[in-house]
Amino acid sequence: MITANRSIVRLQPAIRHTLKYSSLTSIKSYHHRKMSQPVTITYTQERKKELTAQYTHINQLIQTEQEKKNQNEHVLLLPVSKLKPASDIKILYDTLHIKEFGENYVQELMEKSKLLPNDIKWHFIGGLQTNKCKDLAKIPNLYCVETIDSLKKVKKLNESRLKFSEDADPINCYIQINTSNEEQKSGLHEENEIFEIVEYFLNKDGKEKPLMLNLVGLMTIGSWNVSHQVDHDKDNEDFTALANWKSKIDSKFGTDLKLSMGMSADYKQAVRQGSTEVRIGTDIFGNRPPKDEAKII
Ligand SMILES: *Cc1c(COP(=O)(O)O)cnc(C)c1O
Repeated sequence: MITANRSIVRLQPAIRHTLKYSSLTSIKSYHHRKMSQPVTITYTQERKKELTAQYTHINQLIQTEQEKKNQNEHVLLLPVSKLKPASDIKILYDTLHIKEFGENYVQELMEKSKLLPNDIKWHFIGGLQTNKCKDLAKIPNLYCVETIDSLKKVKKLNESRLKFSEDADPINCYIQINTSNEEQKSGLHEENEIFEIVEYFLNKDGKEKPLMLNLVGLMTIGSWNVSHQVDHDKDNEDFTALANWKSKIDSKFGTDLKLSMGMSADYKQAVRQGSTEVRIGTDIFGNRPPKDEAKII
């Protein structure tokens, strides 16, 4: 099957069909087929060159920003591969040995995780729904969930991970903070709620054991307006707010939280303001197709 001239994927004749993760039935039948039919993921040299160059370029820009601020803490460049084909992920995995990727949709992540090598460390960065926690928790190599925004969901995720397997690797978690107080944005901004979740993670009350989750940091999505401000030398107020939350929580609980902040439009600023992880989609993979046109292979 050829998707434009970006990626070529050869399937065994028996499973030569288009997969769309919007349909649950196609996924079930796909998994059924997969038992007997391996899927080979291939790509063009052209796409390989393109993606490798883009990733390397952004990594260099991140280093340049760090040097400006004399920062030498490691900044993870997380490629956000949502709505992009598995072959794009495979390119970065094969050529640059990138092992961590970000995805937004549970269904898509479930499919990709079955197709791609199992030493990939998946980050879930999409809106978290209580009723999807169960499916998420069943992905063995789910490494990180960056969008924790309620105690109820944390508990559900923990419970689901335990049910899936007590030997599963714990999931690293970020609490998502709504730093811009925009109504439509998810994330927390009430101190009580945030502290309550931190306490749960630190398991101070000792009630919920074993805990299959680790608290590693805080995450925010900068507001569009601020991220596109003309004066790029000015601090981004969303990132300032997230860094302030870190100081507050670290000093109260003795933690040393990481900061997941910065996307294609605002990652340089985020790095200057102490980000330890930037989540980049467009600047690495190019524009995304509409959800109903996206193909996994
Ligand atoms: C899509 C997405 C990104 C990547 O966005 P780009 O602007 O394409 O770099 C980063 N973080 C989150 C939470 C996203 O949903």
